[in-house]
Amino acid sequence: MRVVVVGAGLAGLAAAADLVAAGADVTVLEADDRVGGRVRGVDIADGVVADGGAAYLGIRHTELLARMREQGLNVVSTGMTGDSTFLLSDRRTTTASRVPPLDAVALGDLFDRLEELVAEIRPDKPWLSPRAEELDRLTAARWLADEIDNPDVKTFFPLFIGEMMAADPAAISVLHMAFYLRSGGGIRYLNAFEGGAQQWRIDGGAHLLCLSLADQLGDRVRLGQSVCAIDQTSAEVEVQCAPGADGTRPRYRADRVIVALPPALAQRITFRPGLRSPRATASTGPGCAVKVHLGYPAPIWREQGLSGWSVSSHGPLLSTVDDSPSDESAGVLTGFVTGSEASTFSALSDREQQDAVLAHVGRLFPQLPPPDRCTVTDWLTAKYSRGCYAALFGPGDWLRLGPTLTTPHGRVHWAGTETSIEFFGLMEGAIRSGHRVAAELVHRTGPGDAAAGVLVSSHASGADLNHSSVE
Ligand SMILES: Cc1cc2nc3c(=O)[nH]c(=O)nc-3n(C[C@H](O)[C@H](O)[C@H](O)COP(=O)(O)OP(=O)(O)OC[C@H]3O[C@@H](n4cnc5c(N)ncnc54)[C@H](O)[C@@H]3O)c2cc1C
Repeated sequence: MRVVVVGAGLAGLAAAADLVAAGADVTVLEADDRVGGRVRGVDIADGVVADGGAAYLGIRHTELLARMREQGLNVVSTGMTGDSTFLLSDRRTTTASRVPPLDAVALGDLFDRLEELVAEIRPDKPWLSPRAEELDRLTAARWLADEIDNPDVKTFFPLFIGEMMAADPAAISVLHMAFYLRSGGGIRYLNAFEGGAQQWRIDGGAHLLCLSLADQLGDRVRLGQSVCAIDQTSAEVEVQCAPGADGTRPRYRADRVIVALPPALAQRITFRPGLRSPRATASTGPGCAVKVHLGYPAPIWREQGLSGWSVSSHGPLLSTVDDSPSDESAGVLTGFVTGSEASTFSALSDREQQDAVLAHVGRLFPQLPPPDRCTVTDWLTAKYSRGCYAALFGPGDWLRLGPTLTTPHGRVHWAGTETSIEFFGLMEGAIRSGHRVAAELVHRTGPGDAAAGVLVSSHASGADLNHSSVE
């Protein structure tokens, strides 16, 4: 069986690895000049690489942990020893608690209400949940405005949704919010450091996992191949890429294609015959996240009894966390700019971003010297991502997109974290989607013996495929 995998993020790499193990001939086409997609290592100081994209994982991320073990990678605990720092309406406090010093009863009520919503969601088919239509119509912002009138909850809710989903509550449906919280293991698990989804990072960076998966695939992975069209007949599929620097348009033929892209990017590909159901709608938005890495000579906040964990009610840095390397060879604070703050921040010039960050850090940690380096990773402008941490399903999306998320379009199959009902939006969801789609292909046809997704030609001429029939 010849398989072309479109996208060398964790989903595409996991699918490709499984298919190679099953005897398939696999070619992975990646638009960017690196593998990993939303997993990315960024150099933030001499010899120090931080997670510019995905970083955290927990005990329930079993497929991710298994892939790490196979590649000889270890976890490092997220540093949380010491007091938290809160900057709420310009008032700075430090306390042993991780929870902002807001009306505890009102926050408890909010979590009770959220738990009730989460419990209503059918985890396997959220679009068939009892109140799916009603919850899919309503934005999370509208829900809050209708249901809760406490000023502290109004302050806290966007921070919580921003941190969990990189979303502005106005951009997501209540069904999506409740589904996401359920899919990720529940509110407590998703939100927790000890024992929860933020407990660990991959030692050395999550990109190491993508690099070693890609290394094993060797020259099956082809970089700089931006897929723009997929044509199929009842006999085979042809995948066309955008013209390269020399003006030629590489084309590949295969028996099956796996599209392992964020939904908005999958939607941009021209499919012939056309898709029967969309991959994204006008309501499907990109998650909005910018990561800021502040480099220090050492994790000096620890000497002052601080964990480095902070929450601010105003941007740019809505939260910070200690992501220093395990050997303490440097101090690294990661700042998160999410939701609507991320859109505002992304529009600033480099100088304005640096000034805003340094001013904010000065207010958060007045006892620390300014960081030696400040590195900004802006996912809003990342051409090949469109949705970080993940795509946001807006009003109407789950009912429209949910039922066909994983339904093959003839010889075209779907992967990517946004196709995963389990751990949607997370690295774990991406890997599970890769395993799911590989099993789908293997069970459908059995491993075959034909030649790999062979490069057909590098010329711009049209394919002589019959576009009329799809299984
Ligand atoms: C800032 C940030 C923080 C995050 N934090 C966490 C976290 O702490 N924990 C966690 O578990 N997850 C986190 N995530 C989410 C996690 O990164 C994603 O869920 C996961 O990496 C998605 O993998 P994927 O393979 O589905 O998609 P992607 O990683 O997006 O892979 C898709 C690939 O397709 C390529 N591509 C795009 N268009 C084309 C085309 N036309 N032709 C060919 N190739 C194309 C892209 O370049 C990319 O390599 C975070 C993400 C971000 C950005």
